[in-house]
Amino acid sequence: MEGEKPFPGIGPEKTVSGGGKPFPGKYVRACLPWIRRAGAVALDLLYPPRCAVCDGLLRKGEDGCCADCRAALPWVREPACMKCGKPVADFRQEYCDDCARTRHFFARGVAAFTYTGAMRQSVHRLKSGNRRDALDFYAAAMAQALEPHLPAWQPQMLIPVPMYRKKQVQRGYNQAELLARRIGGRVGIPVETGLVRCTRRHAPQKTLGREARMRNLSGCFAVTRRIETGCRLLLVDDVYTTGSTVDELARVLQEAGAGAVYFLVLCTGKGKKTVCTAENVCYTKIPDR
Ligand SMILES: [Zn+2]
Ligand SMILES: [Zn+2]
Repeated sequence: MEGEKPFPGIGPEKTVSGGGKPFPGKYVRACLPWIRRAGAVALDLLYPPRCAVCDGLLRKGEDGCCADCRAALPWVREPACMKCGKPVADFRQEYCDDCARTRHFFARGVAAFTYTGAMRQSVHRLKSGNRRDALDFYAAAMAQALEPHLPAWQPQMLIPVPMYRKKQVQRGYNQAELLARRIGGRVGIPVETGLVRCTRRHAPQKTLGREARMRNLSGCFAVTRRIETGCRLLLVDDVYTTGSTVDELARVLQEAGAGAVYFLVLCTGKGKKTVCTAENVCYTKIPDR
């Protein structure tokens, strides 16, 4: 019939000229689940799912991470630093060695894993090897680490640590943003990516000490608009080392009106005084008294 849509609400459908028969869209739609399934099977054959941690092929029934790696995941366990969340040696130690002598701008932070062994290589693949398939597994682990803190912290927005625009274009993605979006979906907190920008490229931080890192980051971040006074924010990043990046971000966000700034990271870096046991349990040594 002239003018009548064969599939109301879907928009105009093509009709075969003269015959008036609907284009076989409904048949294609009926087959879509099968087409998707066939596509997924083909993708699995071309790119078989791999373990997020060791990069080995996953066996049937394994999801995101192989059974061996799952059994040895270096979760950050208590006791942990009350400020930055790094594991410490015992419950008598309130702060890690770094937080005991440094004034941080962030309020508190938490990490899912310690940055050791296979985790280090895994993060490297995530950042430089375009291995985004591990993101779902890691976002789930980060959401799990965050959940016990949510009632006290009550963050109103998740802010992924921004990457310099040109660097992000070269890489094709910002892993902190992809993690934040997945975590936001899990914990039901909105993700804000335009609030703070990285305005210039800074030298690699790896070999620098804390003070040199802070100098290197000075003026690097710019807040794009006024923030509701007292708004509680949660920064999301992949690795915490000395805290200079989250500190500098917390500082500029608070200058623009934010209240407490917390952070959530996938891994917390090993400090010089961190030791790890054969069971992959890591902690900061208590300085000799
Ligand atoms: Zn594995
Ligand atoms: Zn600490």
